[in-house]
Amino acid sequence: MEPEHITKTKETEICKQCKNIVIGKGNPKANILFVGEAPGRNEDEQGEPFVGAAGKNLDKLLEKVGLTFEDIYIANILKCRPPENRDPLPEEIQAHTPWLLKQIEEIQPHVICSLGNYATKFFLSKCNVDEMKNQPGITSVHGKIQNIEIGELKIKLIPLFHPAAIIYNRSIEAEWEKDMEIVKNEISRSNLCP
Ligand code: URA
Repeated sequence: MEPEHITKTKETEICKQCKNIVIGKGNPKANILFVGEAPGRNEDEQGEPFVGAAGKNLDKLLEKVGLTFEDIYIANILKCRPPENRDPLPEEIQAHTPWLLKQIEEIQPHVICSLGNYATKFFLSKCNVDEMKNQPGITSVHGKIQNIEIGELKIKLIPLFHPAAIIYNRSIEAEWEKDMEIVKNEISRSNLCP
C-alpha cells in the first residue's frame, strides 16, 4: 500500500496538474539538507529540484564554499509546481510537508539550510503550518543559526536567502556569500564533510 505521506501529496490539486512530482536530489546520506520552496517550470519538466535559473545560482554559490551534490541533499516544501509559480497555500504546505519530514527522518541531517521565507518559517514554527504566519521573515533571520528539534533529531537551522531572490536583487549576493561562510564554518566545526 502507498504510504500516507505520498497519498496526501497526490490528493492535492497542484499534484494532479503538475507534470512531475519533484522529490529531491543529492546524497540521501548527506549531513546537510537544503530546503527550497517549490518546483518551478524547469523542475516540473525535468522532475528534479533547482535545475532552472535559481538552480544555476545555487550551483555557483555551493561551488564557492566547496560543496557538491555528494555533500548535500536538496528538497522543497512543496513536491509539485503551483500554477504560474504562485506562492504555496497553507493547505498545500500541510499536505506536502509530511513527505519532507519523512525525508528528514531518513536522511537525519545535522544542518538544514532553509532557502527563503517558506522553508524558514516552516522550521521556525516547529513544522506547525498554522504558526508560520507568526514567524519573522528571512531578511531578519538569514545567517543566524537556530537550534531546532524535529522528532528525536537535534538540528542546526541556517536560514538563507532564496537563490532566486539574487536574480532579482543583486545586492543580496554579498549577504548570501557572508551567510555561506557561516554554513562553511559550521560544516568544518562539526566535521560534516569528511
Ligand atoms: N525554487 C525552489 O524553491 N525550488 C526549486 O526546486 C526551484 C526553484
